[in-house]
Amino acid sequence: MIELLKAYLQQHHYSRFDLKAVIFDMDGVLYDSMPAHDKSWRQTMDELNLQHIPFEFYLQEGRIGKSTIDAVFQRNLQREATEEEEQRIYARKSELFQQYNSGATLPGAKEVLNLVREKGLKPVLVTGSGQPSLLDRLDIHFPGIFTPQTMVTAFDVVNGKPDPEPFLMGLEKGGNLRPNQAIVVENAPLGIQAAVAAGIFTIAVNTGPLSETILTDAGASLVFDSMTTLRAELPGILRLAETVSI
Ligand code: MG
Repeated sequence: MIELLKAYLQQHHYSRFDLKAVIFDMDGVLYDSMPAHDKSWRQTMDELNLQHIPFEFYLQEGRIGKSTIDAVFQRNLQREATEEEEQRIYARKSELFQQYNSGATLPGAKEVLNLVREKGLKPVLVTGSGQPSLLDRLDIHFPGIFTPQTMVTAFDVVNGKPDPEPFLMGLEKGGNLRPNQAIVVENAPLGIQAAVAAGIFTIAVNTGPLSETILTDAGASLVFDSMTTLRAELPGILRLAETVSI
């Protein structure tokens, strides 16, 4: 573990961590919503007779809707979707998602957030989601944890994941932090790529069906199998991050 922390510091030319915040992705990290996203995307594309590849919507998680739709269009029709098509397809997907999403949080998520707060760190949310009910729902499930000032959503950014922009904005919202002042918790390959491109130490939780190597290849320094395992391991990681230096 200490070697991973040192490797990060070396690579990014820092002598130590100075942790102030932990940045959380939402879908597949705080909420068990990915099965519903996946099912809604697949059904939407099936209804249009557009072929998708295995795990496509898990692999594309974090992208804005337009870019997910365009990838399917290019494969099937060798062209991008028109704006009208995009809107219609995204509306159908969202409609199905509302139907299928249970709203369940992931086991351990609340405990991880509470621990972060107990340790005096600021929880920040960085999500590609643009659901209007987002803030209300977060406040019901994780009361008092996030505020609009500590959230980055699809409405805030020009370039979605895998671009680093959402996480760079997350650092800003954490209090104009440098990358070594935060860690990121992500579940998706493109989200991990985005966080790593922003220069932040990134922990993956593999809450979906993808193989662990995909998350490691995307640049995650650590991969845990659940938020519950992260809850168990996080105190040790934070303790090491406080003391490690190169
Ligand atoms: Mg996610």
